[in-house]
This record gives sequence, structure tokens and C-alpha cells, in this order.
Amino acid sequence: MVLRDFFINFCILCTGIFLLYLLFRKIRHRVNSSSVSFKLATGLAQGLFGVLLMQFGIQFSKTVLIDLRSIPIMIAAQVGGPIPSIVAAVVITVFRFASYPYSTSALVNAAIVLIAGVSFGWVARASIRRQHKWWTMAAIFSVLLGLGIHIVIPGWKAAGEIYVQYVFSIVMATYFTRFLVSYLWRSQDALDQLKEVSRKDFLTGLKNTRAFNEEMNRIYDQAKAQREPLSLLIIDIDYFKQINDTYGHPAGDEVLKQVGDVFLRACRSVDIVCRNGGEEFSVILPVCDQIRAKQVAERIRSAVETNIFVVNNDKPIRLTVSMGISTVTAFHSTSIDRITQFADEGLYMAKQSGRNRVCLKEAL
Ligand code: GH3
Ligand code: MG
Ligand code: MG
Repeated sequence: MVLRDFFINFCILCTGIFLLYLLFRKIRHRVNSSSVSFKLATGLAQGLFGVLLMQFGIQFSKTVLIDLRSIPIMIAAQVGGPIPSIVAAVVITVFRFASYPYSTSALVNAAIVLIAGVSFGWVARASIRRQHKWWTMAAIFSVLLGLGIHIVIPGWKAAGEIYVQYVFSIVMATYFTRFLVSYLWRSQDALDQLKEVSRKDFLTGLKNTRAFNEEMNRIYDQAKAQREPLSLLIIDIDYFKQINDTYGHPAGDEVLKQVGDVFLRACRSVDIVCRNGGEEFSVILPVCDQIRAKQVAERIRSAVETNIFVVNNDKPIRLTVSMGISTVTAFHSTSIDRITQFADEGLYMAKQSGRNRVCLKEAL
């Protein structure tokens, strides 16, 4: 019977943790996870999860029914600190008072849950390892339980027996939860890292072609909806082959990295700098008309021209870049491919007319 109850509770823990993880992973992309509303929502959801667990207690004997309501409060604290853990504790307490008659035991229970909510939040903020936080919370809850059982149940023997069963359940549930939540967090971290790496150019650290396409689509839709201008620069290093031929391929790589840094320094923080392959780069300029795009392009061009690139133990190199600009204002008559094509044609014109310059066709 006890085994069956344990099994049911662990199945509910597993399902609840996984479903709430999926739900909040979705929400995390839309709202700031450190915002108060996100923390309140986390607390509310974990509180309701605690209420659910209260319905499926573990029946140790005819008189002893133990539930795992403390676990969602721990999770709430680990996920978002004191606000969610206190909210979860309040939700559980309110439900307890609303559904069962008032008694000394109910009062003691409420006190334990509320103190747990506050102290778990405090533990979550402490500068100790995440894994140790689980066990610190479990230890605090065990102490609170000991005091509660001592107040409610007369006689050391009976109270002691119940206490041992309670602590056993909490330890098992904490171990299981810690294992499951850590696994989900580690998988999520790995997924986030993989996503980040798949959008990054490994050499320069700039965004790669895949990220360029994604960002271009996003900014194009945004500009179209807001009726804002959008500009694109396509940049190519002049006579880059000579650098490889003269100083070697590794030195060429080093120059590409330094060029990327110069671009980043010359752009606004909202501009998106990408390496589209080889020695070709692009900069997406959101909310930027043709006049402003020309100014940014000229600033980048002159920043490269005046910069001294250093390779092979302090060998100084000078470089120039050529650039094509395209600006779009009339979205109904164009597409992303056409914007890119116009910028490419501008770049071709810049190369044909002598390099180290910025060229543009008329606005799209
Ligand atoms: P132009 O002014 O006409 O652009 O001349 P260019 O020499 O820059 O252009 P070209 O297309 O002839 O040569 C590009 C060179 O860029 C050839 C290639 O070896 C080099 N390159 C492409 N990718 C990399 C890279 O990742 N690292 C290094 N070091 N060189 C690269
Ligand atoms: Mg080139
Ligand atoms: Mg090229």
C-alpha cells in the first residue's frame, strides 16, 4: 500500500515537473524570467502543483497520511527565489484552510508551510551550490516538521514514528526531484548552447549566415509592420587574397577577426553584424533610412582604412573595404532577396569603380 502510494506520488511529481518545465520554457521566450509577473506565475503554478500533491498523500498507517506539498515550494524557490516560493506557500495554505475545518493541526501546518516558503526563498539566494540548496531546504523542512509533530502529537514514541516516516518521504522525494530538475536544466543549457553555437561564426564570433537569414526575416517583418525603413550593407575586404599570400592563412584569419571587431565598434548596438562567408560581411541596420545608412557605411569604411591590423608578432597591415548599400521603404514592391541583390549590385559597383568606397542603387 505504501509502495503503491509512493509510486503514484512519484509519477505525479514526474508529470508535474515535466509539464510545468515545458509550459515555463515557452513563456520564458516571451516574458523576462526575472520579472515580477513571471515569478508570481511560477509561484501560483507551483502552489497549485502542491495542492494537487496534497490530494494524493502517502498512507503510512490508518492515522498517518503524508503528502509532498513541500517539494513544489522547493522548486519554486530554486527557479525564482523568494517571491515564487512565498506565493506557492500562500496558495497551499489558503487551499488548506478553505477545504478543511480549522484546527490546531491546520494552524501548525500553515505555519510550517509559510515558514518553509520564506526560508526556502532565503536558501535559494544564498551563495552555495545549487545541489546543496536542495538538501538545505529538505533539512529545514525536516526541522520544521519535527517541531510541528511535537506540538500536535502527544507522546514521544508516536511522534517519533511519524517523524521518521515523514523525513524518509521528504528525503526520497527531494532526491528524485533534484535528479529530475537537474537533468532538465542540464538538457536545457546544452540546447541553449547548441542554438547559440549554430548561429555564430566560429572564427570571428559574429553572427553566421543562418543567423543573418533569421535576423533579416525578423527585422524585415518588423519594419514592414511598423512602416519603418530598413537598410542593409554588404561589405567585402579589398585584395584580401594578397594578405593570405603574403602573410599566410592563419594571419588572414587573425585579420578577419580584427575586421569583425572594427565593424562592431563602428556600428550601433541595434545593428546586426554578420560574416556571410569568406571575407564578406553584412550589417543589417534596423530603422535606418538611406541618409543614415550612408553615414554608418562611411564610418565603417573609414574605421577600417585608419585601423592598423597587427599579425605575425606585430606586423602592421593596412586594409580597405568596399560596400554596397540597399535601403527599403516601399515594402509592397520588394522582397528580402531583392534587398540583398541590390546591396550586392552596390558592392559590385564599388569594386568596379576602384574599391575602398561605398556605393548604392536607388532606394527600393
Ligand atoms: P577583391 O578586392 O576583388 O575582393 O579581391 P580579394 O582578393 O579580396 O577577393 P578574392 O575573391 O579573389 O579572394 C578572397 C580570398 O579570401 C580568397 C580566400 O583564400 C580568402 N578567404 C576566404 N575565406 C577565408 C578564411 O576563412 N580565412 C582566410 N585566411 N582566408 C579566407
Ligand atoms: Mg575581397
Ligand atoms: Mg569576396
